[in-house]
Amino acid sequence: ALDGEYVRRWLAAATAAIERESDHLTELDSPIGDADHGANMRRGFTAASAAVGKEPPQTPGATLALVGRQLIGSVGGASGPLYGTLLRRAGKALGDGPTVTPGELCTALRAGVDGVAQLGRSERGDKTMLDALYPAVEALGSALDSGAGLVAALAAARTAAEEGAVATVPMQARKGRASYLGERSIGHQDPGATSAALLIAALGEAAG
Ligand code: ADP
Ligand code: MG
Ligand code: MG
Repeated sequence: ALDGEYVRRWLAAATAAIERESDHLTELDSPIGDADHGANMRRGFTAASAAVGKEPPQTPGATLALVGRQLIGSVGGASGPLYGTLLRRAGKALGDGPTVTPGELCTALRAGVDGVAQLGRSERGDKTMLDALYPAVEALGSALDSGAGLVAALAAARTAAEEGAVATVPMQARKGRASYLGERSIGHQDPGATSAALLIAALGEAAG
């Protein structure tokens, strides 16, 4: 079931992936940023894991919202408020029931991704985390609509997110620090799109 424990498994898988890929995320952030994305994500997810471990909320919605608040409170970089908004919005959209359906999870993620676009004044094609998040939510929605089970639908979302991250390589950045480089941002994979694909992959790991 998609309950509070599911969100805790997601958080554990996401935190482990961030730790494993931290150096890689920071490497991606060096040519087109300030070489701190791995450290930012690590700080945020370590704080979130500690907070959730200390006092686990009862519901999936409250758990996601707590993770979001921790990211906003602990990460100095742009990614903190952006991912924090994603998770707070998604958590709020899940409501306060003890379990949610796959369709409700998808709708909540969509609301969270829209929240990122709103806060960042960004859209698809700007070479940001949105270029992994939007394809992931769309793939999840169409897989569920066509009758796929949760695990298969989350696998489709993961593939879409990973492809979305790779597709940022030829893009010119229009938002964030990378945009200061203009055309010189072309040819590098966006660090935030890369971490977004890790977070989406962790949704599938937690499901099964
Ligand atoms: P900072 O740039 O403040 O050092 P991070 O390095 O942690 O923060 O995160 C950078 C990532 O944040 C980028 O790779 C990009 O994916 C994402 N990002 C930056 N600005 C925006 C925005 N306006 N909208 C969406 N995502 C953004
Ligand atoms: Mg940075
Ligand atoms: Mg920074």
